[in-house]
Amino acid sequence: MSKYYNSSRAKNIFDPSAEEPFKLSRSKIDLFIECPRCFYLDRRLGVGRPPGFPFNLNSAVDFLLKKEFDIHRAAGKSHPLMESYGLDLVPFSHEKLDEWRENFKGVQFYYEPANMILTGAIDDIWVDKKGVLYVVDYKSTSKDTEVNLDAAWQIGYKRQMEFYQWLLRKNGFKVSDTGYFVYCNGRRDVKAFDAKLEFDIKIIPYEGNDGWIEMAVMEAKSCLLSDTEPAPSPNCDYCNYREAVKDKEMAKDKKTFNVVKVKKPAPKKTKIQEHLI
Ligand code: SF4
Repeated sequence: MSKYYNSSRAKNIFDPSAEEPFKLSRSKIDLFIECPRCFYLDRRLGVGRPPGFPFNLNSAVDFLLKKEFDIHRAAGKSHPLMESYGLDLVPFSHEKLDEWRENFKGVQFYYEPANMILTGAIDDIWVDKKGVLYVVDYKSTSKDTEVNLDAAWQIGYKRQMEFYQWLLRKNGFKVSDTGYFVYCNGRRDVKAFDAKLEFDIKIIPYEGNDGWIEMAVMEAKSCLLSDTEPAPSPNCDYCNYREAVKDKEMAKDKKTFNVVKVKKPAPKKTKIQEHLI
């Protein structure tokens, strides 16, 4: 096992008999929507997915964007990029903003029906003259074509935005359905690298709808309460890989143990997957 991965966590594992609220981040709700089994293995059994390699360049872009917008926040002024898009908004100032941006804190809300504290770390918030908040998320990539939100996999970005809108509303703020993605695209059409990356930056508005969230949270809670592991997703390469390995091992052992493989039925979609995917 590599030093980056701990296959068995002891912290923040769901205990069905516990009375205190269970803390769950928006990324774990997304994991539940993607694959209830992986979510169950992670939060109920304490075996998380191995992490991907850290995206240090993307983190650097996020960090620098935060710094840049903070200069305008301190001055109470709009960023020139916001002005170029005709947005009559300024970066929002709040005493808790730093905490809301922290990964292990974030914006939090105790959702009583599930006895859970839901959390999500935001990138930024802008505000209009009436005090209405606009959730902002920074994204970065590098591709030859214009950035947009059209790809099927970007549904995760949209859910992320909606979750933050929901959390802020539950904290008593007036939040617009419109959120903004500040999307940075590393240019490949320059002559040389010259030890710097240049970016085109685009603001992409998105109309969120947080109507799915409470249903997803309640389903995630039922999943955690269950004593049975949900079935693996048929489209996931990892469990297919695990199954393939198991099959081979069983076939090899068959000579010795006479093992019979039972074909499992295809898993049913959860209600929230039917609603969203
Ligand atoms: S199907 Fe994929 S996502 Fe689901 S439990 Fe298996 S590895 Fe995880």
